[in-house]
Amino acid sequence: MVGGQDVVIVGGGAIGVCCALELARAGAQVTLIERGAELAWGCSAGNAGFICPGHSAPITSLESLELGLRNLLKPDGAFYLKVDPSLAPWLARFVAACRPDRVRRGADAMRELATASLKLHASFSEEGLATTFSNRGILIAAETPEGLASLVAEGSANAQAGLRTEELDGAEARSLEPELGSSVVGGMHYPDEAHCDSAGFVEAIATAARDAGAKLQTRVEALRLLRSGGRVGGVETTRGRLHADTVVLAAGAWTSQLARDAGVFVPVVGGKGYHVELPDKPSGPRVPVLFKESRVAVTPLSGRVRIGGTFELCGLDESVSPRRVAALVAGASRGMPNLSGRTRLSTWRGLRPCAPDGVPIIGASERLPNLVLATGHAHMGLALAPITGRLVREIVGDEEPSHDLQAVRPDRFRPLI
Ligand SMILES: Cc1cc2nc3c(=O)[nH]c(=O)nc-3n(C[C@H](O)[C@H](O)[C@H](O)COP(=O)(O)OP(=O)(O)OC[C@H]3O[C@@H](n4cnc5c(N)ncnc54)[C@H](O)[C@@H]3O)c2cc1C
Repeated sequence: MVGGQDVVIVGGGAIGVCCALELARAGAQVTLIERGAELAWGCSAGNAGFICPGHSAPITSLESLELGLRNLLKPDGAFYLKVDPSLAPWLARFVAACRPDRVRRGADAMRELATASLKLHASFSEEGLATTFSNRGILIAAETPEGLASLVAEGSANAQAGLRTEELDGAEARSLEPELGSSVVGGMHYPDEAHCDSAGFVEAIATAARDAGAKLQTRVEALRLLRSGGRVGGVETTRGRLHADTVVLAAGAWTSQLARDAGVFVPVVGGKGYHVELPDKPSGPRVPVLFKESRVAVTPLSGRVRIGGTFELCGLDESVSPRRVAALVAGASRGMPNLSGRTRLSTWRGLRPCAPDGVPIIGASERLPNLVLATGHAHMGLALAPITGRLVREIVGDEEPSHDLQAVRPDRFRPLI
Protein backbone atom coordinates (compact mmCIF):
# COMPACT_ATOMS: atom_id res chain seq x y z
CA MET A 1 0.00 0.00 0.00
CA VAL A 2 1.40 3.37 -1.04
CA GLY A 3 -1.57 5.53 0.02
CA GLY A 4 -1.02 7.37 3.31
CA GLN A 5 2.69 6.53 3.56
CA ASP A 6 5.19 9.32 4.27
CA VAL A 7 7.86 9.03 1.58
CA VAL A 8 10.99 11.20 1.50
CA ILE A 9 12.87 11.30 -1.81
CA VAL A 10 16.46 12.55 -1.80
CA GLY A 11 17.46 14.12 -5.13
CA GLY A 12 15.58 16.32 -7.57
CA GLY A 13 16.96 15.01 -10.87
CA ALA A 14 15.03 13.11 -13.56
CA ILE A 15 14.85 9.99 -11.40
CA GLY A 16 13.75 11.75 -8.20
CA VAL A 17 10.94 13.75 -9.83
CA CYS A 18 9.57 10.71 -11.68
CA CYS A 19 9.46 8.79 -8.37
CA ALA A 20 7.70 11.78 -6.79
CA LEU A 21 5.07 11.89 -9.54
CA GLU A 22 4.27 8.17 -9.45
CA LEU A 23 4.15 8.00 -5.65
CA ALA A 24 2.09 11.17 -5.23
CA ARG A 25 -0.40 10.00 -7.84
CA ALA A 26 -0.70 6.73 -5.91
CA GLY A 27 -1.65 8.64 -2.76
CA ALA A 28 1.64 8.82 -0.80
CA GLN A 29 2.56 11.93 1.20
CA VAL A 30 5.70 12.77 -0.76
CA THR A 31 8.47 15.19 0.24
CA LEU A 32 11.34 15.52 -2.25
CA ILE A 33 14.45 17.36 -1.16
CA GLU A 34 17.07 18.77 -3.51
CA ARG A 35 20.16 20.50 -2.20
CA GLY A 36 20.60 22.67 -5.29
CA ALA A 37 19.00 26.07 -5.82
CA GLU A 38 16.80 24.45 -8.47
CA LEU A 39 15.63 21.01 -9.42
CA ALA A 40 17.88 19.30 -12.00
CA TRP A 41 20.95 20.61 -10.21
CA GLY A 42 23.03 17.55 -11.13
CA CYS A 43 23.38 15.43 -14.25
CA SER A 44 19.77 15.89 -15.37
CA ALA A 45 20.34 19.57 -16.16
CA GLY A 46 22.26 19.20 -19.39
CA ASN A 47 22.30 15.71 -20.85
CA ALA A 48 21.87 15.04 -24.56
CA GLY A 49 18.16 14.37 -24.14
CA PHE A 50 18.08 11.08 -26.08
CA ILE A 51 15.25 8.66 -25.27
CA CYS A 52 16.75 5.75 -27.08
CA PRO A 53 16.08 2.05 -26.37
CA GLY A 54 18.39 1.30 -29.33
CA HIS A 55 21.35 2.65 -27.38
CA SER A 56 20.84 0.45 -24.32
CA ALA A 57 24.19 -1.34 -24.26
CA PRO A 58 25.80 -0.71 -20.86
CA ILE A 59 29.01 1.34 -20.61
CA THR A 60 30.81 -1.94 -19.96
CA SER A 61 32.11 -3.82 -23.02
CA LEU A 62 35.42 -5.16 -24.28
CA GLU A 63 35.42 -2.24 -26.74
CA SER A 64 35.06 0.30 -23.88
CA LEU A 65 37.73 -1.47 -21.84
CA GLU A 66 40.16 -1.40 -24.75
CA LEU A 67 39.37 2.25 -25.46
CA GLY A 68 39.77 3.14 -21.76
CA LEU A 69 43.21 1.49 -21.68
CA ARG A 70 44.29 3.13 -24.94
CA ASN A 71 43.21 6.55 -23.64
CA LEU A 72 45.02 6.29 -20.29
CA LEU A 73 47.60 8.82 -21.44
CA LYS A 74 45.38 10.74 -23.85
CA PRO A 75 43.94 13.88 -22.27
CA ASP A 76 41.25 14.32 -24.92
CA GLY A 77 40.00 10.72 -25.42
CA ALA A 78 36.22 10.23 -25.50
CA PHE A 79 36.30 7.42 -22.91
CA TYR A 80 38.73 7.74 -20.01
CA LEU A 81 39.20 5.44 -17.04
CA LYS A 82 41.20 7.32 -14.41
CA VAL A 83 43.73 5.25 -12.48
CA ASP A 84 43.02 6.33 -8.93
CA PRO A 85 43.43 3.99 -5.93
CA SER A 86 40.07 5.06 -4.51
CA LEU A 87 38.40 3.91 -7.75
CA ALA A 88 40.26 0.57 -7.93
CA PRO A 89 37.47 -1.60 -6.41
CA TRP A 90 34.95 -0.07 -8.84
CA LEU A 91 37.37 -0.64 -11.75
CA ALA A 92 37.91 -4.27 -10.75
CA ARG A 93 34.14 -4.84 -10.87
CA PHE A 94 33.92 -2.93 -14.18
CA VAL A 95 36.54 -5.18 -15.79
CA ALA A 96 34.71 -8.31 -14.56
CA ALA A 97 31.43 -6.93 -15.95
CA CYS A 98 32.92 -6.51 -19.46
CA ARG A 99 32.37 -10.26 -20.11
CA PRO A 100 30.21 -10.50 -23.26
CA ASP A 101 27.48 -12.64 -21.62
CA ARG A 102 27.07 -10.11 -18.79
CA VAL A 103 27.04 -7.20 -21.24
CA ARG A 104 24.35 -8.92 -23.31
CA ARG A 105 22.16 -9.59 -20.25
CA GLY A 106 22.58 -5.96 -19.14
CA ALA A 107 21.73 -4.65 -22.61
CA ASP A 108 18.62 -6.86 -22.85
CA ALA A 109 17.36 -5.65 -19.46
CA MET A 110 18.04 -1.99 -20.25
CA ARG A 111 16.41 -2.25 -23.69
CA GLU A 112 13.25 -3.75 -22.21
CA LEU A 113 13.04 -1.03 -19.57
CA ALA A 114 13.89 1.74 -22.03
CA THR A 115 11.20 0.56 -24.45
CA ALA A 116 8.58 0.68 -21.69
CA SER A 117 9.95 4.06 -20.60
CA LEU A 118 9.70 5.53 -24.11
CA LYS A 119 5.96 4.71 -24.02
CA LEU A 120 5.63 6.49 -20.66
CA HIS A 121 7.51 9.53 -22.03
CA ALA A 122 5.01 9.61 -24.91
CA SER A 123 2.06 9.23 -22.52
CA PHE A 124 3.26 12.22 -20.44
CA SER A 125 3.29 14.27 -23.59
CA GLU A 126 -0.16 12.97 -24.62
CA GLU A 127 -1.65 13.96 -21.25
CA GLY A 128 -0.39 17.51 -21.89
CA LEU A 129 2.72 17.72 -19.68
CA ALA A 130 5.19 20.20 -21.23
CA THR A 131 8.12 17.77 -21.21
CA THR A 132 9.42 19.02 -24.61
CA PHE A 133 9.07 15.45 -25.96
CA SER A 134 9.80 15.27 -29.69
CA ASN A 135 9.59 11.95 -31.53
CA ARG A 136 11.61 12.69 -34.65
CA GLY A 137 13.68 9.53 -34.33
CA ILE A 138 17.38 9.19 -33.61
CA LEU A 139 20.23 8.52 -36.01
CA ILE A 140 23.42 6.80 -34.95
CA ALA A 141 25.99 7.72 -37.59
CA ALA A 142 29.25 5.96 -38.45
CA GLU A 143 32.34 7.54 -39.94
CA THR A 144 34.23 4.30 -40.65
CA PRO A 145 33.20 0.99 -42.29
CA GLU A 146 34.09 -0.84 -39.04
CA GLY A 147 31.87 1.55 -37.07
CA LEU A 148 29.02 0.96 -39.50
CA ALA A 149 29.44 -2.82 -39.23
CA SER A 150 29.20 -2.55 -35.45
CA LEU A 151 26.05 -0.38 -35.72
CA VAL A 152 24.47 -2.90 -38.10
CA ALA A 153 25.19 -5.76 -35.64
CA GLU A 154 23.67 -3.75 -32.78
CA GLY A 155 20.74 -2.80 -35.02
CA SER A 156 20.04 -6.43 -35.83
CA ALA A 157 19.94 -7.35 -32.10
CA ASN A 158 17.61 -4.39 -31.54
CA ALA A 159 15.38 -5.41 -34.46
CA GLN A 160 15.14 -8.95 -33.09
CA ALA A 161 14.01 -7.44 -29.81
CA GLY A 162 11.22 -5.61 -31.66
CA LEU A 163 12.66 -2.12 -32.29
CA ARG A 164 12.07 -0.54 -35.69
CA THR A 165 15.43 0.08 -37.40
CA GLU A 166 16.55 1.38 -40.80
CA GLU A 167 20.07 0.85 -42.09
CA LEU A 168 21.21 3.87 -44.14
CA ASP A 169 24.18 4.40 -46.43
CA GLY A 170 26.00 7.75 -46.39
CA ALA A 171 23.75 9.40 -48.99
CA GLU A 172 20.58 8.19 -47.25
CA ALA A 173 21.87 9.45 -43.90
CA ARG A 174 22.58 12.89 -45.46
CA SER A 175 19.15 12.95 -47.00
CA LEU A 176 17.62 12.33 -43.53
CA GLU A 177 19.87 14.99 -41.92
CA PRO A 178 21.37 17.33 -44.56
CA GLU A 179 23.79 18.87 -42.04
CA LEU A 180 25.83 15.63 -42.01
CA GLY A 181 29.18 15.96 -43.76
CA SER A 182 31.05 13.67 -46.13
CA SER A 183 32.81 11.84 -43.25
CA VAL A 184 29.58 9.92 -42.55
CA VAL A 185 29.57 6.54 -44.33
CA GLY A 186 26.17 5.39 -43.05
CA GLY A 187 24.12 4.83 -39.96
CA MET A 188 21.25 3.16 -38.13
CA HIS A 189 18.06 5.15 -37.91
CA TYR A 190 15.63 4.44 -35.07
CA PRO A 191 12.48 6.18 -36.36
CA ASP A 192 10.36 5.60 -33.24
CA GLU A 193 12.82 7.13 -30.78
CA ALA A 194 12.62 10.59 -29.29
CA HIS A 195 14.42 13.40 -27.53
CA CYS A 196 13.67 16.26 -25.19
CA ASP A 197 15.30 19.08 -23.25
CA SER A 198 16.19 17.32 -20.01
CA ALA A 199 15.83 20.35 -17.72
CA GLY A 200 12.43 21.08 -19.28
CA PHE A 201 11.43 17.45 -18.68
CA VAL A 202 12.34 17.66 -14.98
CA GLU A 203 10.43 20.93 -14.57
CA ALA A 204 7.29 19.55 -16.26
CA ILE A 205 7.29 16.34 -14.22
CA ALA A 206 7.90 18.34 -11.03
CA THR A 207 4.88 20.54 -11.80
CA ALA A 208 2.72 17.45 -12.30
CA ALA A 209 4.03 15.96 -9.04
CA ARG A 210 3.18 19.18 -7.16
CA ASP A 211 -0.29 19.11 -8.73
CA ALA A 212 -0.65 15.58 -7.35
CA GLY A 213 0.22 16.82 -3.84
CA ALA A 214 4.00 16.24 -3.59
CA LYS A 215 6.12 18.80 -1.74
CA LEU A 216 9.31 19.56 -3.64
CA GLN A 217 11.87 21.57 -1.70
CA THR A 218 15.10 23.01 -3.09
CA ARG A 219 18.12 24.19 -1.06
CA VAL A 220 17.54 21.34 1.41
CA GLU A 221 20.38 18.86 1.77
CA ALA A 222 20.10 15.37 3.24
CA LEU A 223 22.88 15.08 5.80
CA ARG A 224 22.29 11.51 6.91
CA LEU A 225 19.71 8.78 7.05
CA LEU A 226 18.21 8.19 10.51
CA ARG A 227 18.30 4.51 11.38
CA SER A 228 15.96 3.00 13.88
CA GLY A 229 16.39 -0.71 14.47
CA GLY A 230 16.63 -2.46 11.13
CA ARG A 231 14.83 0.34 9.32
CA VAL A 232 15.29 3.93 8.28
CA GLY A 233 13.08 6.28 10.27
CA GLY A 234 13.73 9.48 8.36
CA VAL A 235 16.32 11.91 7.10
CA GLU A 236 18.37 14.52 8.93
CA THR A 237 18.49 17.57 6.65
CA THR A 238 19.89 21.08 6.69
CA ARG A 239 16.36 22.19 7.66
CA GLY A 240 15.74 19.68 10.44
CA ARG A 241 14.48 16.12 10.60
CA LEU A 242 11.97 14.57 8.24
CA HIS A 243 10.04 11.50 9.34
CA ALA A 244 9.59 8.80 6.70
CA ASP A 245 7.89 5.42 6.37
CA THR A 246 10.03 4.99 3.24
CA VAL A 247 13.09 6.84 1.95
CA VAL A 248 13.96 6.79 -1.76
CA LEU A 249 17.61 7.59 -2.50
CA ALA A 250 17.82 9.16 -5.96
CA ALA A 251 20.85 11.35 -5.33
CA GLY A 252 22.64 10.42 -8.55
CA ALA A 253 26.43 10.15 -8.32
CA TRP A 254 26.24 11.24 -4.67
CA THR A 255 24.05 8.32 -3.57
CA SER A 256 26.91 6.08 -2.39
CA GLN A 257 28.02 8.45 0.33
CA LEU A 258 24.59 8.78 1.96
CA ALA A 259 23.97 5.05 1.71
CA ARG A 260 27.39 4.16 3.11
CA ASP A 261 26.83 6.28 6.23
CA ALA A 262 23.74 4.13 6.87
CA GLY A 263 25.71 0.91 6.33
CA VAL A 264 24.33 0.23 2.83
CA PHE A 265 26.75 -0.56 -0.01
CA VAL A 266 25.97 1.19 -3.34
CA PRO A 267 29.05 1.25 -5.63
CA VAL A 268 28.09 4.22 -7.80
CA VAL A 269 30.71 6.71 -9.01
CA GLY A 270 30.61 9.70 -11.35
CA GLY A 271 31.25 9.31 -15.07
CA LYS A 272 31.83 12.90 -16.14
CA GLY A 273 30.48 14.21 -19.42
CA TYR A 274 30.27 17.65 -20.99
CA HIS A 275 28.04 19.65 -23.22
CA VAL A 276 28.61 22.75 -25.28
CA GLU A 277 25.71 24.72 -26.72
CA LEU A 278 25.84 26.62 -30.00
CA PRO A 279 23.23 28.86 -31.60
CA ASP A 280 20.69 27.20 -33.87
CA LYS A 281 20.53 27.99 -37.59
CA PRO A 282 17.59 27.61 -39.98
CA SER A 283 19.55 24.93 -41.85
CA GLY A 284 19.48 22.65 -38.79
CA PRO A 285 20.39 20.11 -37.62
CA ARG A 286 16.87 18.77 -37.20
CA VAL A 287 17.41 15.12 -36.24
CA PRO A 288 19.34 14.12 -33.08
CA VAL A 289 22.54 12.31 -34.13
CA LEU A 290 25.01 10.23 -32.15
CA PHE A 291 28.37 9.77 -33.86
CA LYS A 292 29.57 6.23 -33.22
CA GLU A 293 33.34 6.70 -33.29
CA SER A 294 33.67 10.02 -31.47
CA ARG A 295 30.76 9.16 -29.12
CA VAL A 296 29.49 12.72 -29.58
CA ALA A 297 25.75 13.48 -29.55
CA VAL A 298 24.24 16.46 -31.38
CA THR A 299 20.75 17.43 -30.22
CA PRO A 300 18.57 20.14 -31.78
CA LEU A 301 16.84 22.08 -29.00
CA SER A 302 14.72 25.21 -29.08
CA GLY A 303 16.99 28.01 -30.40
CA ARG A 304 20.21 26.08 -29.86
CA VAL A 305 22.18 22.95 -30.69
CA ARG A 306 23.64 20.88 -27.86
CA ILE A 307 26.83 18.88 -28.38
CA GLY A 308 27.26 16.30 -25.61
CA GLY A 309 29.61 13.47 -24.77
CA THR A 310 32.87 12.13 -23.29
CA PHE A 311 33.03 9.69 -20.40
CA GLU A 312 35.61 10.34 -17.72
CA LEU A 313 35.57 8.06 -14.70
CA CYS A 314 36.25 10.65 -12.02
CA GLY A 315 34.64 9.88 -8.66
CA LEU A 316 32.98 13.17 -7.70
CA ASP A 317 35.51 15.51 -9.33
CA GLU A 318 33.60 18.23 -11.20
CA SER A 319 36.57 20.08 -12.72
CA VAL A 320 36.34 21.00 -16.42
CA SER A 321 38.99 19.83 -18.89
CA PRO A 322 39.26 22.38 -21.75
CA ARG A 323 40.98 19.74 -23.92
CA ARG A 324 38.06 17.33 -23.64
CA VAL A 325 35.61 20.14 -24.33
CA ALA A 326 37.60 21.13 -27.44
CA ALA A 327 37.69 17.47 -28.58
CA LEU A 328 33.92 17.27 -28.19
CA VAL A 329 33.36 20.28 -30.46
CA ALA A 330 35.93 18.97 -32.94
CA GLY A 331 34.18 15.57 -33.08
CA ALA A 332 30.79 17.19 -33.76
CA SER A 333 32.24 19.57 -36.36
CA ARG A 334 33.87 16.70 -38.25
CA GLY A 335 30.49 14.98 -38.59
CA MET A 336 28.57 18.23 -39.17
CA PRO A 337 30.99 20.79 -40.67
CA ASN A 338 28.45 23.64 -40.47
CA LEU A 339 28.72 23.56 -36.67
CA SER A 340 32.28 24.87 -36.75
CA GLY A 341 32.82 28.59 -36.26
CA ARG A 342 29.60 29.18 -34.30
CA THR A 343 29.97 31.21 -31.08
CA ARG A 344 29.79 29.01 -28.01
CA LEU A 345 26.76 29.82 -25.82
CA SER A 346 27.63 27.68 -22.79
CA THR A 347 29.75 24.83 -21.46
CA TRP A 348 28.44 22.39 -18.85
CA ARG A 349 29.56 19.21 -17.16
CA GLY A 350 27.63 16.57 -15.25
CA LEU A 351 28.33 13.34 -13.39
CA ARG A 352 26.56 10.27 -14.72
CA PRO A 353 25.77 7.96 -11.79
CA CYS A 354 27.56 4.75 -12.83
CA ALA A 355 27.38 1.28 -11.30
CA PRO A 356 30.35 -0.92 -12.27
CA ASP A 357 28.24 -3.07 -14.63
CA GLY A 358 26.59 -0.02 -16.19
CA VAL A 359 23.10 -1.22 -15.22
CA PRO A 360 20.84 0.82 -12.89
CA ILE A 361 20.31 -0.06 -9.24
CA ILE A 362 16.60 -0.13 -8.45
CA GLY A 363 15.14 -1.85 -5.42
CA ALA A 364 14.85 -2.04 -1.65
CA SER A 365 18.02 -2.40 0.39
CA GLU A 366 18.52 -5.83 1.93
CA ARG A 367 19.82 -4.24 5.11
CA LEU A 368 17.19 -1.50 5.49
CA PRO A 369 14.07 -2.79 3.70
CA ASN A 370 12.25 0.56 3.72
CA LEU A 371 15.19 2.27 1.98
CA VAL A 372 14.64 2.18 -1.80
CA LEU A 373 17.58 2.83 -4.13
CA ALA A 374 17.03 4.40 -7.54
CA THR A 375 20.35 5.27 -9.11
CA GLY A 376 23.18 4.10 -11.37
CA HIS A 377 21.44 4.96 -14.65
CA ALA A 378 24.73 6.00 -16.30
CA HIS A 379 24.08 7.20 -19.90
CA MET A 380 20.37 6.31 -19.80
CA GLY A 381 18.92 8.21 -16.81
CA LEU A 382 16.64 10.53 -18.74
CA ALA A 383 15.41 7.72 -20.98
CA LEU A 384 14.78 5.39 -18.03
CA ALA A 385 13.38 7.96 -15.56
CA PRO A 386 9.64 7.32 -16.15
CA ILE A 387 9.92 3.52 -15.85
CA THR A 388 12.14 3.92 -12.77
CA GLY A 389 9.43 6.04 -11.13
CA ARG A 390 6.88 3.36 -12.00
CA LEU A 391 9.05 0.54 -10.60
CA VAL A 392 9.77 2.47 -7.39
CA ARG A 393 6.04 3.00 -6.87
CA GLU A 394 5.49 -0.76 -7.32
CA ILE A 395 8.29 -1.57 -4.87
CA VAL A 396 7.05 0.88 -2.23
CA GLY A 397 3.50 -0.41 -2.67
CA ASP A 398 4.63 -4.04 -2.50
CA GLU A 399 3.00 -4.67 -5.88
CA GLU A 400 3.92 -7.38 -8.36
CA PRO A 401 6.70 -5.72 -10.44
CA SER A 402 5.76 -4.98 -14.05
CA HIS A 403 9.28 -6.02 -15.20
CA ASP A 404 11.85 -8.58 -14.13
CA LEU A 405 14.05 -6.75 -11.60
CA GLN A 406 16.80 -9.38 -11.45
CA ALA A 407 19.34 -7.32 -13.46
CA VAL A 408 18.82 -4.13 -11.43
CA ARG A 409 18.59 -5.57 -7.90
CA PRO A 410 20.80 -3.67 -5.41
CA ASP A 411 22.18 -6.80 -3.69
CA ARG A 412 24.09 -7.91 -6.82
CA PHE A 413 27.02 -5.96 -5.38
CA ARG A 414 28.75 -6.87 -2.11
CA PRO A 415 31.66 -5.01 -0.48
CA LEU A 416 35.01 -6.68 -1.32
CA ILE A 417 35.97 -6.75 2.38
C1 LIG B 1 27.07 14.59 -21.39
C2 LIG B 1 25.94 13.69 -20.95
C3 LIG B 1 24.99 13.28 -21.87
C4 LIG B 1 23.96 12.43 -21.46
N1 LIG B 1 23.00 12.10 -22.37
C5 LIG B 1 21.96 11.33 -21.99
C6 LIG B 1 20.91 11.04 -22.90
O1 LIG B 1 20.95 11.48 -24.05
N2 LIG B 1 19.87 10.27 -22.48
C7 LIG B 1 19.82 9.78 -21.21
O2 LIG B 1 18.87 9.06 -20.90
N3 LIG B 1 20.78 10.06 -20.30
C8 LIG B 1 21.84 10.83 -20.67
N4 LIG B 1 22.82 11.13 -19.77
C9 LIG B 1 22.76 10.55 -18.42
C10 LIG B 1 21.71 11.25 -17.54
O3 LIG B 1 21.95 12.64 -17.55
C11 LIG B 1 21.80 10.71 -16.11
O4 LIG B 1 21.72 9.30 -16.12
C12 LIG B 1 20.63 11.24 -15.28
O5 LIG B 1 20.61 12.66 -15.31
C13 LIG B 1 20.74 10.77 -13.84
O6 LIG B 1 19.64 11.32 -13.15
P1 LIG B 1 19.56 11.25 -11.58
O7 LIG B 1 18.29 11.88 -11.19
O8 LIG B 1 19.86 9.87 -11.11
O9 LIG B 1 20.82 12.11 -11.09
P2 LIG B 1 21.02 13.68 -11.04
O10 LIG B 1 20.36 14.36 -12.16
O11 LIG B 1 22.46 13.95 -10.85
O12 LIG B 1 20.20 14.09 -9.75
C14 LIG B 1 20.64 13.82 -8.45
C15 LIG B 1 20.26 15.03 -7.62
O13 LIG B 1 20.49 14.73 -6.25
C16 LIG B 1 20.90 15.92 -5.61
N5 LIG B 1 21.57 15.54 -4.38
C17 LIG B 1 22.74 14.87 -4.24
N6 LIG B 1 23.04 14.70 -2.94
C18 LIG B 1 22.02 15.27 -2.24
C19 LIG B 1 21.75 15.42 -0.85
N7 LIG B 1 22.60 14.95 0.08
N8 LIG B 1 20.62 16.07 -0.47
C20 LIG B 1 19.75 16.56 -1.40
N9 LIG B 1 19.97 16.46 -2.72
C21 LIG B 1 21.07 15.81 -3.15
C22 LIG B 1 21.83 16.56 -6.65
O14 LIG B 1 21.99 17.94 -6.41
C23 LIG B 1 21.11 16.24 -7.95
O15 LIG B 1 20.27 17.30 -8.36
C24 LIG B 1 23.88 11.98 -20.12
C25 LIG B 1 24.82 12.41 -19.20
C26 LIG B 1 25.85 13.26 -19.59
C27 LIG B 1 26.84 13.74 -18.58
